[in-house]
Amino acid sequence: MNQIEIDKIKRFLSEKRKIVIIPHKNPDGDAIGASTGLKYYLDHFNHNVEIISPNQFPDFLKWMDPNNVIKIFDEDEKCAQKIIDAELIFTLDFNNLVRISAMKDHVKKSNAKLVMIDHHENPADYADFMYSEPNMSSTCEMIYHFIEKMGDIDKIDKNISRSLYAGIMTDTGSFKFPSTTELTHQVISNLLKTGISHSDIHNHIYDNNKFERVQLLSYSLSKIKVVENLNTCFISLSRKELDKYKYEKGDTEGIVNYGLSIKNIKFAVIFMEDFNENIIKISLRSRGDFDVNEFSKNIFGGGGHKNAAGAISKRSLEDTINYFLESLKSYEKLLI
Ligand code: 5GP
Ligand code: MN
Repeated sequence: MNQIEIDKIKRFLSEKRKIVIIPHKNPDGDAIGASTGLKYYLDHFNHNVEIISPNQFPDFLKWMDPNNVIKIFDEDEKCAQKIIDAELIFTLDFNNLVRISAMKDHVKKSNAKLVMIDHHENPADYADFMYSEPNMSSTCEMIYHFIEKMGDIDKIDKNISRSLYAGIMTDTGSFKFPSTTELTHQVISNLLKTGISHSDIHNHIYDNNKFERVQLLSYSLSKIKVVENLNTCFISLSRKELDKYKYEKGDTEGIVNYGLSIKNIKFAVIFMEDFNENIIKISLRSRGDFDVNEFSKNIFGGGGHKNAAGAISKRSLEDTINYFLESLKSYEKLLI
């Protein structure tokens, strides 16, 4: 996003506007952090700002929204009209309107100017203003740079800082993924200067588990299957298995990463039967050069980043896994 575009956005925001902020479906720490961080920033200027999430988000992220202002499209029929009436819509942490399911029709109907802020590969061309940088650690880091470009660094208060810190922390695997740069650490340093407690944020997100969630982790780890000779491993969880551990949204987040902690494993996948829709949710992770964004796109029509991607499958759990194992064979050269 160049200075001309920033100036246009600034001019547009020089009067009170109806603004809607949209994270992707099944929002994670980065999507919620970016949404609340941006809202708390825009709230400095007296706009009318709504965050509308396509569906419910996990409990361990609720602390970022203490006043319960995030509206859930799935649960609130007033959301559709709010999207249609908006003058400016920010789409955060995704770059293709398919990632917001049914909400996309309302976004298309609206006359609002669209601003994309996102760090995923292969952006679709739907936004009036596109801030897309696949090399960035997280959308939260980009929100920081956006506020900086707007000349408003001094507006970054504790509320904004906490949200952005949480999103950068979760999307970088606590600052360990290769996407974490020197600049990421500089941003983190500036956020910490506002006086927030990074240990409190860590505790909110990682040390706030229900007992059943830890048991589900234990069960999942006991189910890891290693594909001999392909340096790959996978976990599958059926609806029945998830139900046994009183599954709630977000409970399986992070489990797939344990696969990568096994010596020599380059590619780890988790398959989960969805509760509400007849689909399998797939999360893919890799270490090093193996590109799971490409794999996910080619094999399942999904996407994401080089080392972390996602997809859905409409086959049964068993068929999805068989199809995956079959597809894996043609990637042998890249995996060994
Ligand atoms: P996760 O596995 O944590 O759900 O997602 C990993 C990465 O892939 C995230 O950056 C997420 O936005 C992206 N992603 C997750 N699911 C999908 C999907 O169904 N399609 C696409 N294109 N990307 C996805
Ligand atoms: Mn992200």
